Amino acid sequence: EHIANQIAAGEVVERPASVVKELVENAIDAGSTKIDVAVEEGGLQSIRVTDNGNGIDPEDCETAFYRHATSKISQGRDLFQITSLGFRGEALPSIAAVSKVRLVTSNTQDGRGRLIEIEGGNLKANEETAAPQGTDFVVKELFYNTPARLKYMKTIQTELGHISDYMYRLALSRPDIAFTVRHNGNTLLQTLGNGDLLQVIAAVYGTQSAKAMKPIKAENMDYTISGYISRPDWTRANRNAMSFIVNGRYIRNYGLSQSILRGYHTLLPINRFPLTVLKFDMHPSLVDVNVHPSKLEVRFSKEPELFAFAEEEIRKVLMQEVL
Ligand code: ADP
Ligand code: MG
Repeated sequence: EHIANQIAAGEVVERPASVVKELVENAIDAGSTKIDVAVEEGGLQSIRVTDNGNGIDPEDCETAFYRHATSKISQGRDLFQITSLGFRGEALPSIAAVSKVRLVTSNTQDGRGRLIEIEGGNLKANEETAAPQGTDFVVKELFYNTPARLKYMKTIQTELGHISDYMYRLALSRPDIAFTVRHNGNTLLQTLGNGDLLQVIAAVYGTQSAKAMKPIKAENMDYTISGYISRPDWTRANRNAMSFIVNGRYIRNYGLSQSILRGYHTLLPINRFPLTVLKFDMHPSLVDVNVHPSKLEVRFSKEPELFAFAEEEIRKVLMQEVL
């Protein structure tokens, strides 16, 4: 029996990093505090995501792989949380249609769980098994049955780059979750999940970078800014070393980047760039996340105010060091 068709899958599962994203988002939705990601050969050979979340009810395991069987939108999730596919109940069916999936999950602490195996959309196993609470998802041989799609995959390094970029961003936005990322057995990222952003910065950028960071904290009527910026004497960052987290989500915004750089360059040479991880918190009405649901871009409703505030605070915090 075909659980989902491959054509639809092609639209939602673009590459190994999309699988990682969907599985990790599910793990987060399940309340996990620890999420381990292990990939082989850029994720083309194997992707494994193991979490300590709520697990899936044995009764629901199989239906989770049927298209539109589940929809978190009915639970009235915060619209801000909704991602490209996360609200449509399409991720698992789509992934299972184009790979070999093995799911072990338990929603209890009695050691009893459920094993599901699906190959190319065909159910191979649905049986009881021993399992700790949480979910262990293995996706092997992605696109093995869709050679045309497989041909579009780039090198292992490129596919791995997409995965690690996503995981670095996620780790920076969720210091409260312990993440590990491994590739072919080598650890690429390990965070503690103790809420300490500086620890995540050390894990992502290295301890030297973390030591060069200066905390920043400011607020006005509409916005709270917090996080870190490298001290003026830190010369090793390039122009892409700026991360922004808005209301808990990693975003990109050209105008915001420009504001930070303006603040920075009023005091420092234009060939020098800051390493910075900045969190912005604001009322949800001040940010429009629906510009590109699948992408990272957002739009701010009071752009000039936010940009001026950010620029000024960067200038202020650096001024203390430069003078
Ligand atoms: P959606 O996330 O849009 O609901 P998915 O296809 O990604 O759809 O997942 C289907 C369902 O499977 C989820 O709604 C959730 O109930 C369950 N699920 C998937 N992964 C996990 C997980 N790691 N832990 C707990 N439940 C999960
Ligand atoms: Mg999902």
